[in-house]
This record gives sequence, structure tokens and C-alpha cells, in this order.
Amino acid sequence: MIRFENVTKRYADGTTAVDNLSFEVAEGELVTLVGPSGCGKTTTMKMVNRLIEPTGGRIYVDGDDISATDPVELRRRIGYVIQQVGLFPHKTVLDNTATVPHLLGVRRATARARAAELLDLVGLDPSVYGGRYPEQLSGGQRQRVGVARALAADPPVLLMDEPFGAVDPVVRERLQNEFLALQKSVRKTVLFVTHDIEEAVRLGDRIAVYGQGTIEQFDAPAAVLGAPATPSVADFVGADRGLRRLSVTPVEPGDLEQPPVVHLDDPLPATLPGWAVVLDREGNPHGWISAGQAATARGAVREHARRMEARLPVGASLKQAFATMLQYDAGWIAVTDEENGGRFLGVLTPAGLHEALRRSTAADARDIPRDEVELETVSGR
Ligand code: ADP
Ligand code: MG
Repeated sequence: MIRFENVTKRYADGTTAVDNLSFEVAEGELVTLVGPSGCGKTTTMKMVNRLIEPTGGRIYVDGDDISATDPVELRRRIGYVIQQVGLFPHKTVLDNTATVPHLLGVRRATARARAAELLDLVGLDPSVYGGRYPEQLSGGQRQRVGVARALAADPPVLLMDEPFGAVDPVVRERLQNEFLALQKSVRKTVLFVTHDIEEAVRLGDRIAVYGQGTIEQFDAPAAVLGAPATPSVADFVGADRGLRRLSVTPVEPGDLEQPPVVHLDDPLPATLPGWAVVLDREGNPHGWISAGQAATARGAVREHARRMEARLPVGASLKQAFATMLQYDAGWIAVTDEENGGRFLGVLTPAGLHEALRRSTAADARDIPRDEVELETVSGR
């Protein structure tokens, strides 16, 4: 959907901001560009909507060479969200959001109706916020309006340049989560610039890690964290990249153990190897029962089962799994299938979590000996 072919940008003063860059963003993909300040991220982005013209190479949007496309026409296809949102101070939130469609000739009433829908979509109740002016909003709310406005003309492509950079960490995380949920439904092709590796791995389907005007690594977050391609990428993703990888690796059915299972209404089994998971009538996890109890007591499982609240849907991140284990001080977590009414799938143990983390390392997938990767990071070359 967006393709860079040997793109270079040299500014008049001789600064090479972008150096022979080639990469491609697939339709519906969210790619984060991450790197330290001054590495050329904003320059890369502004070349896509022709706010900056490259000095060499070609850029294609949806197959069209953009140097041959009218910039105004091009920008209709591209939503743009920046840190300083640039809302019109004298216009209401609703009118700010409706601006672009209205300019494009959509009837005012239609544009405003669509704007209200979009405000709702980004978590701002239009009946509450629609009539407010930008100065009456918090920083996070202004950023939401910025996202709504960028989506108003329903462009297939979205460029976002540190859109959540100016809000505090708590609001930022909320905005990130909301944006991810939004992206699931709108499926835009997104280029998202950030200097925050945490944000890059959380949001990106793939991330491009910048060096000076070049991409050092372009890969899935787990791969970048698991196997940094160069020492400078390793440096940038940091020593705690192992921890970060927890947040980008999902719990999969193959990670689960299958202990014996009994149901609440069953009579107590005479023998049990160790312990068993107890399920309710619907097949949802209820708790557990130990072999000792089963051997000495009588009656139904219901009378002896212990409650166990630690549970997680399959597909949740290993980080969530780890947090849940700590929260409940639990040696295992019941993993459920939320798409099937919370049906029990198996249990995740610390050993399973460890295995899952190993599985996730691209180092394993690529047959790079793990030790080599670790050593490179440790020696910090
Ligand atoms: P980033 O967004 O990653 O912080 P930029 O793309 O803004 O980086 O800048 C990349 C490099 O180009 C920096 O060294 C910056 O100083 C330089 N640069 C940016 N804009 C201009 C300009 N208009 N003229 C000269 N140099 C510029
Ligand atoms: Mg920038």
C-alpha cells in the first residue's frame, strides 16, 4: 500500500535525513517507525503526503507514484495526526472533526453526523464534547479529536507522528489501547512514528528500527526484541527486551498443560494423581481439588472444591499471564476460550510460560544459537 524505493532526502544544508530507504507497508498493516530523535522518522513520514519532497528515489501509495499525483488529491487519501494536533481554536469539536469532509463537498449535516459517529468511535460522547472548544479539552481528549478528524474523510492511509507523545503515561497507554481497538475495526494502513520502543512494540504489526536515516531492522516486534539484527538495535531495544517480549507474545493452546478434570456435580473420585481442575456445568473453570481431599472425604466434588480465580483468555499476553500469577500468588492459571463462552482449555504454569517465551524468540526460529544473541547484547558492541 505504501512503498519506498531507494528514497533519499538531503536537506539544503547538506544533512542527509533519509538515506536510500526501501520498505513496504501492506494494506491494513500498522508499521511503527522507531528510533532516537533526529534519525529521520518525521522526514520519512512527511514525504508520504508530500509535505517534503525526496531528493532521490520513488514512493508509491496504492501503486501510484506520488511524485506524479496532485498533492491535494493525494492528501485526501491520507489522514495525518501529529503531536500538536492543530485544531481550529474557534471551532467546536464537532465542527473540527467535520472540517475535511465538509471541504470535500460533503453536505454540512452529513459531515456533522459522520463526525459525531467518529467522536463516539474515539471515546468522546458527541453530546458531551461535540459542542466544546479545543481549549476546554484535556491533552488526551484533544489527541482523540485529532484521530477522529484524520479518520473523517475515511482515508485508506493514516500517518501518525508521535500522536500520543505529549500526554502523560497513563493517558498514553489508554490512548494506545483505544487506538489498537479502533484499528481492529477500521483496518487502515498506518505509518506510526514514535521514539518510544515500548509504544512501537505495543502498536506495531511490524516495526522499523531506525539508525541514522536508514532502517536497521524491519520485523515483527517479537523478532526485533528476540533477535536484534545489529548491536545498535540491541542497544536501542534495551536490556529489558526480554521483559518487553512478554507483552508481545500471546498464550497459545500449545503452551497449556492438561491436568485431570472433574465437574462440580461429579462424585468425589476415589483416586487422583496430585490434583484436578474443577469445572462447572458450562465447562467454565471453577477451582481445584487435591488428591488428599479426594482420598479422605465423601460426597460431591462441589462440597470440597476450592475456588480459584486466576484465569486468562487464550491469546492474552505472557505479560498478563505473569501479572495474573503474581496477583493471585498462583502456581497455575486456568486458560479459557472466550469465543466459546469461557470454556476451559488447560492450565498455564510457570514452566509453560517459560517455554512460551523461548518459543517466541525469533532467535530460535532462525536457528541462531541463543547464547550468541545474549552475548552480543551483554558485550554491548
Ligand atoms: P526525527 O523525526 O526522527 O526526530 P527528522 O526527520 O525530523 O527526525 O530529522 C532528521 C534529520 O534531518 C535531523 O538531523 C534534523 O536536524 C534534520 N532536518 C530536519 N528538517 C530539516 C530541515 N528543514 N533542514 C535541515 N535539516 C533538517
Ligand atoms: Mg520527528
